[in-house]
Amino acid sequence: MSSSDEEGEEYLFKIVIIGDSAVGKSNLLSRYARNEFNLHSKATIGVEFQTQTLEIEGKEVKAQIWDTAGQERFRAVTSAYYRGAFGALIVYDITRRGTFESATRWLDELKTHSDTTVAKMLVGNKSDLDNIRAVSVDEGKSLAEQEGLFFMETSALDSTNVNKAFELVVREIYNNVS
Ligand code: GDP
Ligand code: MG
Repeated sequence: MSSSDEEGEEYLFKIVIIGDSAVGKSNLLSRYARNEFNLHSKATIGVEFQTQTLEIEGKEVKAQIWDTAGQERFRAVTSAYYRGAFGALIVYDITRRGTFESATRWLDELKTHSDTTVAKMLVGNKSDLDNIRAVSVDEGKSLAEQEGLFFMETSALDSTNVNKAFELVVREIYNNVS
């Protein structure tokens, strides 16, 4: 997805965030795009995606990052959501084991709906809640290795690794297409 003009190439990459309800998807995006966090965030209403611009190798790269509108609660994320995605963050909550176990289901769904190489990152969110963690770092790492994903633990609350996670995915997409 690139286009040329007199200023050189421009890139626009769609990235989707998936994972069980309440793992922190919307807060990861609001932390990255607006440096905001909400303790009582309700299901996302209205906002479909946020766009962030990065510069890579002197080129303008736009990441269009999509958030669900809460439909994951009903396992009703549609194929339109995945369509055209070049990157994905598969998010679980390190304090809820079930959300980690769901990660493979989300990964399968992603594979079913994608028609191109997708840069994928497994994200264990809420690392600030280390004292009540239910999934070890090693478990996250080994699932990621097994499935060929990047891996990071993040905290949308204290900002740990949030920018890093998104930017790594954007850079990987850029490497895949350029
Ligand atoms: P979503 O359903 O996956 O979009 O999850 P939300 O972003 O709406 O977050 C669900 C709940 O988890 C909210 O109460 C958030 O405040 C909380 N939350 C999100 N990220 C973090 C985090 O990194 N640390 C902690 N402690 N809470 C978080
Ligand atoms: Mg949400």
